[in-house]
Amino acid sequence: MTSGQSSAVEKVLYGNSVSPGIGMSRCVVVNHARPSIIERNISPKETSQELDRFQKALLLTMHQLEDVEAKVREMIGQKDAEIFASHQLVLEDQILLDEIARLIQVELLPAELAADKVFKKCISSFEKLSDEYFKQRVADIKDVSSRLIDNLTGWVSTWYETLSEPTILVGKDFSPSETVQWDHKLIVGVITEQGGPTSHVAILARSLRIPAISGLDNATEQLKTGQFLLLDGYKGAVIVSPTVKTRLAYGKYLEKIQTIEQELEADSRKPSVTLDGRYVLLGANLAKAMDAQKAYSFGVEGIGLFRTEFFFLNKEQLPTEEEQYEVYRKVGISMNKRPVVIRTLDIGGDKNSPGLSLSEEDNPFLGCRAIRLCLKYSHIFKVQLRALLRAGAVCKNLKIMYPMISSLEEFDRAQELLKECMMELDREGVEYNPEIEVGIMIEIPSAVVCAQELAHRAAFFSIGTNDLIQYTLAVDRINPAVNHLYQPTHPAVIRLISDTVRAAHGGRRSGGIPVAICGEMAGMPELIPLLIGLGVDELSVSLPLLSKIHCLIRRVSFQECQKLAHQAMEMKYAAQIQELSAQFAKEAAPEVFLN
Ligand code: PEP
Ligand code: MG
Repeated sequence: MTSGQSSAVEKVLYGNSVSPGIGMSRCVVVNHARPSIIERNISPKETSQELDRFQKALLLTMHQLEDVEAKVREMIGQKDAEIFASHQLVLEDQILLDEIARLIQVELLPAELAADKVFKKCISSFEKLSDEYFKQRVADIKDVSSRLIDNLTGWVSTWYETLSEPTILVGKDFSPSETVQWDHKLIVGVITEQGGPTSHVAILARSLRIPAISGLDNATEQLKTGQFLLLDGYKGAVIVSPTVKTRLAYGKYLEKIQTIEQELEADSRKPSVTLDGRYVLLGANLAKAMDAQKAYSFGVEGIGLFRTEFFFLNKEQLPTEEEQYEVYRKVGISMNKRPVVIRTLDIGGDKNSPGLSLSEEDNPFLGCRAIRLCLKYSHIFKVQLRALLRAGAVCKNLKIMYPMISSLEEFDRAQELLKECMMELDREGVEYNPEIEVGIMIEIPSAVVCAQELAHRAAFFSIGTNDLIQYTLAVDRINPAVNHLYQPTHPAVIRLISDTVRAAHGGRRSGGIPVAICGEMAGMPELIPLLIGLGVDELSVSLPLLSKIHCLIRRVSFQECQKLAHQAMEMKYAAQIQELSAQFAKEAAPEVFLN
């Protein structure tokens, strides 16, 4: 911990908001000064002693995690306690454990050095993944490895025991295990240099309703222990040494926000219908089975996108049919008859799995990804299809969705494989749902061009705007150098959405099929009037965005949105379309844009 004195001059620093709320107090800057691990070798005679030391530290770490899990369960509930159950799983990973033992026995490394090397390698391979969720899981591995290594070196961090008054904590990052040991009544805010909205500190901060900001550059150097801070967790801002005038203004702002939030939450159980009675199904995008229960308890009307890659990434062994069946069944049951769209494996591109041994590609986003990969490795695809068909027998609400369909042939081939699975299950006398609905993601321009034909085959469409924008505008979605060209309201994108809706509504031999949007565009409040006006039937967004999107749906009239969409279709520039919809949205639901 460093010390310093407060400065009298007010200044504002910006990071990213990860947990809303306002916190005001003096801060404590925490520096984790762990002793560095010295590179050295042990003698061959010492290996059994080191292996023994490692085993003992492993057991101790497991027990500590069990204790922490029990504490969190008691404090904030089962869901958040599962973070620590997943930490325990890291310590059960036989591949990691074997590699640590090998480094001790063969490379003659002391236990802490062996563990440090193995975990660092694992962390760096996770960090290379572009998927934000998996990047954030790096924090879990770091937390577990630090705990294990601390147990080997005997280092203990006890700074939090010295806190005695309300405090805003500032650190490079805080581990979940550390977070739960704080006296939460004393923590009025958290500021970190690293981490993001899906880091577990952020998740815990939100559960505990502690305002938090991440990504504040050099926070541990810019801020000094003892400084008075006003942390604005809505805007991601920190006001250092706020004047009395600023503090009073914030007091009023906070009162207003609290009233609005209560109103938004109270309303979120009402049906998502526009003022003139058009129902827009509002679903959630999930990647973990355990979030389905949370979604259901929020009153979510369905799951519009369940990403299944999670079970495959970084797995040496691909998940079995039985393992997948259990997950899909669990999600289906959690949603209690409400529709659940499970997307089949979308791996390749920027996501890899050691269990698949994919070869390197020069243009991976244009390469063997998603349905292409599934059709190539049909034995892997069929395991997933069988699991889905079987889970569908128990949960009639489950639907299958194929990602990255670019042609009729791909859809037809996937359907042939599904049929083959049905025939196999018939032969084996295993129950399945022969009527399971099968839809496709519309995320490649060629699929829009062929949408009329696809709409007579598929049971539903879901527009993946993240990829549709990337492939339409030839802008790599993960390359910051071309970020400014990634424009959701580019006229070409808007026209493609409109064409998709028209094709869907004239599909399945003219009874029409529903069309959803499950890309990030559906979670942009300023674009909701435009999307509703374009005729989209369903929107699926991540859990934190639900109440805002819900509010917007209820505040607009479908007819007015249609007029707006008509106007937008005539426009030539992305900025004009964006402005048109944003202005309309802000007038309809100003409170959604307050923070
Ligand atoms: C999309 O492309 O919009 C989508 C939802 O899929 P993903 O982001 O997983 O590629
Ligand atoms: Mg996609």
